[in-house]
Amino acid sequence: MRERLQRFMQGRYGVDQLSNFIVVVAVVLLVIELFLPSFKIRSIVNLVAVCMLVYSYFRIFSRNHYKRYAENERFLKYFVRIQRWFTKKQRRFAQRKTHRFFKCPCCKQSIRVPKGKGKIAITCPKCSTEFIRRS
Ligand SMILES: [Zn+2]
Repeated sequence: MRERLQRFMQGRYGVDQLSNFIVVVAVVLLVIELFLPSFKIRSIVNLVAVCMLVYSYFRIFSRNHYKRYAENERFLKYFVRIQRWFTKKQRRFAQRKTHRFFKCPCCKQSIRVPKGKGKIAITCPKCSTEFIRRS
């Protein structure tokens, strides 16, 4: 049985981050679906989730490594960007009591300053523009 599975999977693409992501989103949709009141919306959500699962399996069993790899790379490019954005928000939230964050009016660089120092002149480390803010 195990050998047959191994033979079946030979030359196939396998699991990657994009497939994992699609499966997770599909499962989340299937859970959400349980709480939806309208039968019509429930069946649409169910259909979308099932299509996503079928697509992820299609990717896992695909023999076109080149195309699947390119899809995953494209996905990762956006995913990493979104991940970074969340990490930044998380870090700022953790420091909200001790620091304030400002954007440079000139180059949009974000600048962190200690909180509670009154009106201060902030010099942008990137473009040296000076601006005054209440910290
Ligand atoms: Zn600047």
